[in-house]
Amino acid sequence: MELTAREFKAYFKKVIDMIEAEKDYLCELDRKLGDGDHGVTMSIGWQAVKAKLDNDLVDEEDCGKISIAVGKTFLNAVGSSVGPLYATGFMRGAKIIKNKVVLNGEDLAYFWVAFGNGVKERGKAKVGDKTMVDTLDPFVNVIKNKYDGTQDFLQLFHEAVTAAKEGMHATKDLASRKGRSSRLGERSIGVQDPGATSAYYILATFLEFIED
Ligand code: ADP
Ligand code: MG
Ligand code: MG
Repeated sequence: MELTAREFKAYFKKVIDMIEAEKDYLCELDRKLGDGDHGVTMSIGWQAVKAKLDNDLVDEEDCGKISIAVGKTFLNAVGSSVGPLYATGFMRGAKIIKNKVVLNGEDLAYFWVAFGNGVKERGKAKVGDKTMVDTLDPFVNVIKNKYDGTQDFLQLFHEAVTAAKEGMHATKDLASRKGRSSRLGERSIGVQDPGATSAYYILATFLEFIED
C-alpha cells in the first residue's frame, strides 16, 4: 500500500464531501444530546480545510505538513469541543509522517494510532464515556495488536474500521460522562454519539479511499 501526497490530499477531500453529506444527520444526533451544532461545526471546519487544500496546499508534497495544516486550519475554524480534539489528532499524526512524500502501510498505521491516541489524551475520555474515543480506541487497538508483521494493510484497516463501527454503535446504549451531553446523564441513553459518528466517517472514508 502506498499513498502519495496528492492521494493523501484527495483523501481529505473525500472526508469533506462525506461530512457535507452527513451534516444534517450529525446535527440531528447533537440536537438530542447537546446543542445541535455538530454537523455545522464539522462542516465549517472541513470547508476551511478545503479552502486550504485548494490554495496553500496545492503544491505541498510533505504529508506531515499537510496533516499539520489540516489540524491547524480545523482548530482555527471551529469553536466547539471537537476543534482541539480533531486538531490534536492530526497534529500528532503529522509527527509520524514528517518529511514523507509517500506513505506506506506502516506509516499510515502509525499515523492513525497517533491520531487516535492524540484525541484520547487531549479529551481525557475513556472508552464507555460516550464520545469519539469509543470509535477511535477500538480502531487503534486493532492496529496496535495486529499491524506487527502484517503485509496486508488493507485487511488490517478493514478490521480496524469494523471495530470502529461497533464502537460507534455501542455509544447508543451508553450514558454520557464527557462533554455537553454528560449533563443529560441517563437521559442520553438511546442516541448514538455525534462525535463517535463523525469519527467513524473519517475512518470509514479512509478505508473507502484505499479500497478504490
Ligand atoms: P460542542 O459540545 O462544543 O457543541 P460538538 O457538538 O461539535 O461540540 O461535538 C460534540 C462531540 O464531542 C461529542 O459527541 C463527543 O463525541 C465529543 N466530545 C466532547 N467532549 C469530549 C472529550 N472530552 N473527549 C472526547 N470527545 C469529546
Ligand atoms: Mg454540539
Ligand atoms: Mg456547540
